[in-house]
Amino acid sequence: MAKKKRKRRKKKSLATAQVKKESFQEKPEVKEKTPLKRQKKFILYAIPFLVVLFGLLFFIVLRPKSEVQRADSLNVIIITLDTLRADRVACYGYDKAKTPRLDELAEKGVKFENAVCQAPLTLPSHASIFTGLYPPSHQIRDNGAYYLDQGFQTLAEIFKEKEYNTAAFIGAFPVDSRFGLDQGFDFYDDKFEEDEKFKAFTSERRAEDVFKSFQEWFLGNFQSKFFVWVHYYDPHLPYDPPSPYREEFSDPYDGEVAYTDFFMGEVIDLLEEKNVFDNTLVVVAGDHGEGLGDHKEIDHGLFLYNTTLKVPLIFCAPRNLPSQKIITFQVRLIDIFPTVLDLLNMSVSADAQGESLIPYMDGKRKDNLVSYIETFHPREMFRWAALRGIVDGKMKYIDAPKPELYDMEMDPKEEHNIYQEEKQVASRLKKDLDGLIEKYSSKSSSRRGLSSEERERLMSLGYVVDSSPSEGESSDFPDPKDKIDVWYTLQVARSLQRRGEDEKAEKLYKKGIEMDPDCSLHYLFLGGLYLKAYRLQEAYDVFKMGTKALPESIPLHDGLAKTSVQMGKYQEALNECEAILTLNDRYFNAISLAGLLYNRMGENEKAIEYLQRAARIEPENKLLLLDYARVLSISGRTEEAIDVYGSLKVHYPKDFRIYQNLGITYGNTGDLEKSIENLKKAIELHPTALAFFNLAVALEKTGRIEEAVRYLKAYLRTTPEGDTARKRMAQKKVAEWEINLNR
Ligand SMILES: [Zn+2]
Repeated sequence: MAKKKRKRRKKKSLATAQVKKESFQEKPEVKEKTPLKRQKKFILYAIPFLVVLFGLLFFIVLRPKSEVQRADSLNVIIITLDTLRADRVACYGYDKAKTPRLDELAEKGVKFENAVCQAPLTLPSHASIFTGLYPPSHQIRDNGAYYLDQGFQTLAEIFKEKEYNTAAFIGAFPVDSRFGLDQGFDFYDDKFEEDEKFKAFTSERRAEDVFKSFQEWFLGNFQSKFFVWVHYYDPHLPYDPPSPYREEFSDPYDGEVAYTDFFMGEVIDLLEEKNVFDNTLVVVAGDHGEGLGDHKEIDHGLFLYNTTLKVPLIFCAPRNLPSQKIITFQVRLIDIFPTVLDLLNMSVSADAQGESLIPYMDGKRKDNLVSYIETFHPREMFRWAALRGIVDGKMKYIDAPKPELYDMEMDPKEEHNIYQEEKQVASRLKKDLDGLIEKYSSKSSSRRGLSSEERERLMSLGYVVDSSPSEGESSDFPDPKDKIDVWYTLQVARSLQRRGEDEKAEKLYKKGIEMDPDCSLHYLFLGGLYLKAYRLQEAYDVFKMGTKALPESIPLHDGLAKTSVQMGKYQEALNECEAILTLNDRYFNAISLAGLLYNRMGENEKAIEYLQRAARIEPENKLLLLDYARVLSISGRTEEAIDVYGSLKVHYPKDFRIYQNLGITYGNTGDLEKSIENLKKAIELHPTALAFFNLAVALEKTGRIEEAVRYLKAYLRTTPEGDTARKRMAQKKVAEWEINLNR
């Protein structure tokens, strides 16, 4: 910030110097003809003139714009910067930060200095941003196992109804389309790696790639109205900024933040380049912060402290919102939803839980907005108590087994729990909190409890599930504060594993299981470590132990299923898929894996059913669609297979496998010309023995023997060593054909 300000000041004085120079330019002529007295007189006249000139200049150029102008047809871009802790941004007071683009945007718009997220977790927080609802209402309590029900109305859906072009560019798996945030988006780019059959929990891509995808879309769409979400994930663990940020920053988190800031700026530059910036509302927000070791929390999701709750929040619309405006009152991410609608003259539903921030920008409102806060991550992943709390801008109450109360003004770092001293305040806040929970809790849940039938189903698969407490029910789960050492052990093990020190990580994961056998993550990461190292039996044992201890943990069943596949235990893998689908019938990995397993076990109609279901959840998954089309084709449903290949060709015109498989399918239907055309295209992209062989067969059938010989020879050259029936047949055919041709 300091740097930026200095720069700007320099610019201003340069402008002043120019004005002065111009004002006196006519002087030399006068000077030659006139005595000194007249020169003084001129200066005397010039002073009021200059004062007026500077006044005007200030009024036109430098005066902060103060009013809000609502407008019907603004474009909207929401940029979420994942894991960006407010106090690590320069314009939020951190002098080691290099965030010139965020600082600049704040200067051009409205900066909320005290914005809080409602849950310090990626999916729940984004769900709150896009629905304007608290987590008890939208029912997304953690990453990975919840999805936003179709019944909720999202910002994207509202804009789509208003005939905006809607598109989202996603940086990481926690907000993958399968979790339901894609509602209302015409285009939702959540491709992290192209050739990925199963996206991992850790799948992500750099801001640079997210930006490139946005840029490509934007250049074709900026001329019509748009509503866009750009999601940059880089400040999330692991902190691994690319050069030159890696070298420039001693703290890699700061490096990731600076890198992300650069690409946030690229979005703005692109808008300016195409002259749409002035007609666009840009909202930039962190989804949650990061512990960075404060309160012994390294990442986020375990606690409800400011480190992970306070996020940057900036609104900028050059023609419509004030500039250089700083709001210090507490606001919430759920307020983005009604604010955007309010600025665009769209009606805000009476059910909205956030409030429009326009009155703050107009200077008409001056109070803190009370926020409900929660994290269910401790309960979901560790079987520790979920935390819920309330923060009114001055006091924060956290409803934990050991309750906490903080005076945010006196103790912003939340180091002194004054619950014992201020029990009256605490009980007033607890009452308010209970009121909020009562008011906002939804009756339905995207992750309901198990029916007795489902329990029986799990029992038949060898798992005994006890009932976990539902919303509002008290539990005797431990306080996460008391389990911080377990959490810390896990974090250290993970960072060792990321550095490649597997042996040390393995020991710590094992220690973690001993410390707390109810925590799923130790099993999960240890099993993952073994699986990656192809230590299959050990991976199997750990996942098996984990699923027995925690039969409701889907990721553990998932790990056991994948390990079983690698060990050739197909039936067991299928049982694990069934267990997962009993717990969550939308779980993509289990659906698609079950499809592949049925195919391998020869039950193709069942395989098709599952693969079809999986493709509905992840229609952009190329490998899944290739499998789906392949199974259709071998089941004789060639027309359907050809349709799937056809749409794949449109999206992936450079993938040889699509042409190769399509060529073979056409060959089976007897459409030889199409078979030849596609196989030749496949060979052009990437020659394989399989394509050469099938092409030779098709050519032979059309009587083009000379060409067929050429490709059969190519097949023999490229096919792996060793004697096979197909090879012998090919050799025989080549010999026969050559004799015939030479005759
Ligand atoms: Zn996040």
